[in-house]
Amino acid sequence: MQYYSTNNKNLSVDFKEATIKGQPSDKGLFFPQEIPLLSKEFISNIEQFSKEEIAFEVIKPYVGNTIPDDELKKIVSQTVNFEFPLVKITDTISTLELFHGPTLAFKDVGARFMSRCLSYFFKDSDKKITVLVATSGDTGGAVAAAFYDVENVEVIILYPSGKVSSIQELQLTTLGKNIRAIEVDGSFDDCQRMVKKSFADKELNEKLFLTSANSINIARWLPQQFYYFYAWQQWKDKSTPPVIAVPSGNFGNICAGLLAYRSGLPVAHFIAACNANDAVPDFFKTETYQPKPTVSTLSNAMDVGDPSNFIRVLELFNYDVESLKKMITPYSVSDVETKQTIEELYSQQGYLPDPHGAVAYTALNSWLQLHSLQKGYFLETAHPVKFYDVVEPITGEKIELPNTIKMILSRTKEAVRMKADVALLKEYLLAGLKK
Ligand SMILES: *Cc1c(COP(=O)(O)O)cnc(C)c1O
Repeated sequence: MQYYSTNNKNLSVDFKEATIKGQPSDKGLFFPQEIPLLSKEFISNIEQFSKEEIAFEVIKPYVGNTIPDDELKKIVSQTVNFEFPLVKITDTISTLELFHGPTLAFKDVGARFMSRCLSYFFKDSDKKITVLVATSGDTGGAVAAAFYDVENVEVIILYPSGKVSSIQELQLTTLGKNIRAIEVDGSFDDCQRMVKKSFADKELNEKLFLTSANSINIARWLPQQFYYFYAWQQWKDKSTPPVIAVPSGNFGNICAGLLAYRSGLPVAHFIAACNANDAVPDFFKTETYQPKPTVSTLSNAMDVGDPSNFIRVLELFNYDVESLKKMITPYSVSDVETKQTIEELYSQQGYLPDPHGAVAYTALNSWLQLHSLQKGYFLETAHPVKFYDVVEPITGEKIELPNTIKMILSRTKEAVRMKADVALLKEYLLAGLKK
């Protein structure tokens, strides 16, 4: 499989190069030259396959011959070594729980796959690669856990001081070894700007081998298809394919679901569930794409005013808005509705969603009111305990801490405090070279 740039169809790079580069120099995004078609037998006999076999079957065409089969099998089995249960909530709505990985959010899947691919590509190298990443919360923890102790990879995570939850902060500041955290006196946008400027810095690029681990990297994006197939494996009524509601921020996750659909996964419809950040819902109304300033909400991992992966969704539909509308419907859900959903789901169904899952449930429920013969599921992208400050005041009850969280509570945070200044970051990165 070769990849082109959404800004240049003539570009052609393989999986290895696209993963290491992260983003084409022309600032487009890497996109597969063709979408593989899975066999009908595979789809209809999916219950007979293991998680590992499904993952291998789905990802193999994308990786091509850049990783040998036995190695790729090892990588996927380490990527998906936790559960992805489809849990029934009402007669028509289930949830696919994606929070059973090490950092309790779905980003574990993409981060674990990417770290292992990079580790394979650099295993006999005399060079070290430095992964530089800005986080608003969940990405940092997932990347830190996934890259911990990976040979020849250094990880530097920038996060905005005081703006991530205490659990999220511990997840990215307590590991040590090859993982370093920088606490920036500024916002997530400041962190993002420092990272982007560093990637563009000539001297840094000459002296260091820098890459990013954000969601535009194909090695984080593509493996997110796996769990849509795991949901199909567990879907009872195979004659009525599901409506799938995806809590969407940067639109990487839903775009992976769309790829899975193009490869043959049965899906009735996709719901792009957004919060007040409604650049995409607006696009569906006006048919002109207009980035917006970010609005803070309760579902903060979806606070994105200019979703970077939406261009991939458009690319997949050849920029044809009519066919896009047949397959996807976006919803914008308010914080008031989100809170109400958390309260109702908990008191009436005994299910406690996190704010992101609650946004998706609300959107799916609205859709099903108008399509009463359909059934669906929403993705639960994080464990509610990660957002206990939102959820506990609504239910009035304490959430029991999972063991993975209990373990880190006693650890001490280690982070370098830094003003939001690109020059300081550069100095820090170059100083690391001398050690
Ligand atoms: C990152 C994240 C999202 C948004 O996913 P995208 O792929 O950026 O659309 C949703 N929910 C949670 C909990 C997240 O961490």
